[in-house]
Amino acid sequence: QAKAQGRDRVVSFDGEMHAAMVASVAMEHELRLALEHGGLSLAFQPIVDLETGRLRAAEALCRWTVPPCEFIPLAETTGLIVPLGAWVLEEACQTAAGWPDHVLVSVNVSSVQLRSSEFVATVAGALERSGLEASRLYLEVTESVLMTDVERTASLLRELKALGVRIAIDDFGTGHSSLQYLQQLPLDALKIPKPFVDTLEEGGQLARAILDLGRSFGLAVVAEGIETETQREALRALGCTKGQGFLFARPMSANELLSTV
Ligand code: C2E
Ligand code: MG
Ligand code: MG
Ligand code: MG
Repeated sequence: QAKAQGRDRVVSFDGEMHAAMVASVAMEHELRLALEHGGLSLAFQPIVDLETGRLRAAEALCRWTVPPCEFIPLAETTGLIVPLGAWVLEEACQTAAGWPDHVLVSVNVSSVQLRSSEFVATVAGALERSGLEASRLYLEVTESVLMTDVERTASLLRELKALGVRIAIDDFGTGHSSLQYLQQLPLDALKIPKPFVDTLEEGGQLARAILDLGRSFGLAVVAEGIETETQREALRALGCTKGQGFLFARPMSANELLSTV
């Protein structure tokens, strides 16, 4: 009987694995169709001056019927992130080209996408076709980008900088990379991750450390996930001048954003 149970368990485990695989293959297929047939959209979340509340930039966030925390990792493992990311860049640049010149646009770039051979050309093309001034485009990369081959990453980022775009490290301090890259890479900004903003009232050591690093290296610092007035005040007291979060605005459609500028 134990044997039978064991066998049942094995069968049902296989069954679950199989079901999960079928589901992810189906989702990949749906995502590919969405990309090809206009089923994806971008939301834009305002990044504001913490002192005045004035709009400084907006982060482009990809939207589908499934949340990004599910479909972005899937797109990364299947390689679909390369055409998907190219679409995001194209769309974000076209949209931002219609904003006032002082409003920048920030686009998330996954490490798979950054390392694809055509990435620099994709960025150059999106800028050229949209007419967006390169200095108005921020590329947000995560520390995972920096974990392998700093030399290669440095030369890649230098090529991007040569176009005139700016580079931010997203979710700074949540990865496993060393701090040396702050000295080795041509960076423009660090983003304080939401968990560090959430714990501001418990001392704010992490947010403070990032702001200190930003000052030392001459980098802009943007705080993410600001939800309360208390957090905004604490950040301002620490010298943080820019941020985004539900306190100011949720991600919104391009049209909604345009009506606020
Ligand atoms: P992220 O780049 O760190 O983006 C910030 C996330 O925090 C967004 O989630 C945003 O909606 C959310 N957020 C902003 N303010 C608040 C707040 O006050 N409270 C709370 N609870 N959340 C806030 P979203 O849009 O679900 O995106 C999740 C992640 O998916 C992004 O994190 C980014 O890593 C990835 N992602 C989204 N769009 C793209 C894309 O086009 N390309 C790539 N490669 N990744 C993307
Ligand atoms: Mg981001
Ligand atoms: Mg991120
Ligand atoms: Mg982030």
